[in-house]
Amino acid sequence: MKRLSLSLPTCLLACLLALPQSLWAWSNHTLGSYIALQQLPAVAQAPEVEVEPLESFVSQQRAGLVQLLDEQEAYAREHFRQYPPRPDDLRLTEEGRDDLRKAFLMALRLNPEIKLATAVQPPPGGELPGDELQKHVALQPADVLVFRNLSGWNQWRFVQLQAGEKIAALDVLASAADEPDFGHDINLFSDNPGEAGQRYGFGPQPFGDPRYEFSSQAPFHMGFYHEDAIIFTGAPYLERNWPEWRAYQFYGLARFAFEKGHPYWGYRFLGWAMHYIQDMTQPYHSTPLPGETTASMLWTAGKSMAGFDADKQAAIQRVADRHTGVERYEVDWLRETLRQGGQSPLLAAYADVSTDGSYPPYSTEYLREVVASESHAHAAAFDAAIGHWLENEKAPAGDFSAGNSPEPFRHDEALDEQIVQLIRHFGAHSRNIAKAALQP
Ligand SMILES: [Zn+2]
Repeated sequence: MKRLSLSLPTCLLACLLALPQSLWAWSNHTLGSYIALQQLPAVAQAPEVEVEPLESFVSQQRAGLVQLLDEQEAYAREHFRQYPPRPDDLRLTEEGRDDLRKAFLMALRLNPEIKLATAVQPPPGGELPGDELQKHVALQPADVLVFRNLSGWNQWRFVQLQAGEKIAALDVLASAADEPDFGHDINLFSDNPGEAGQRYGFGPQPFGDPRYEFSSQAPFHMGFYHEDAIIFTGAPYLERNWPEWRAYQFYGLARFAFEKGHPYWGYRFLGWAMHYIQDMTQPYHSTPLPGETTASMLWTAGKSMAGFDADKQAAIQRVADRHTGVERYEVDWLRETLRQGGQSPLLAAYADVSTDGSYPPYSTEYLREVVASESHAHAAAFDAAIGHWLENEKAPAGDFSAGNSPEPFRHDEALDEQIVQLIRHFGAHSRNIAKAALQP
């Protein structure tokens, strides 16, 4: 039974992770964060913050940061599953290294090539104060993201801010919630291109196809914590993912920055931490194969090993179809929402605070024990609803005229219901981590 460890999940994940982008609702975190966090007075009514370059924050707080990062490393070695210790030569020190920004990024084991543009994405349909005076310069995706292929971001708006400028806390926080997808976790593994992967100690990329530009971030943005033990025994690489460590690092940095009087960096780090929490609300991020049970995974893997590969191929195809299918569904729903003037249960779900208080207070375990666990529990129903919708979609649309008019968006009630629930989780957890970080 030894070969089991490499057969089924490896292929499925390689296929899954080769997909270009995650779901819409989760692929632009800024839009959802604006709507979710507008409901939180601590953010919406926070005083404006002054834009500060990273170098200024790190050089002013260097001694405290050295201590914080040392404490974080010690904690991480103790507490996080399959945590690869940080090589000591990456440690931030009080002396030396001219390039403080690079030293800081490498001590966090982030991609040292990230742009860290001092920019925000304006609120949906909104302008920033001063835009009418053309005070803000628009940035191109290439100024913001590390990817060579930027076609997925053509429609996004980024505006540059100047050091010392005052800006709403909400703009900083909601914009930062998208940032970890701009390259933070790209090429950190030893079989990825570039220098960082050779030095960081993460070893080879545990899953995802390392040839794809986007896939190398997957083990930091997906977290499989709630599979049966037999799955982890058979496929130990499924434990090599670290979103809870990332959330821990950035949440700690946010608390530190607020406490030391650097609120701009407080909100920015908080947005980064929030991103990993938000990613985990997506069942395809918390569950390697939504819709598969432990028994069915083992059965399919066993058949494949015996030479009967058809079930495995079908499983791969099913997951890929549903993943891309629901992405299309959500984009269509968003378009319909915009045509109807911005009102829909989809957007209302981000702002729905009714369940916020039903969760325990934010803690280091929150990502795993609360968010991933809830998301994992929804995976089968989400997958089934997508399957149901895809089945019905094949049926003829009914009696409207076969003219040139585009077919109206056809809702699937069960799928709407699933998406609304998941988006409600996204909003609630975003507010809960912000609430905790902003507590004095
Ligand atoms: Zn992500």
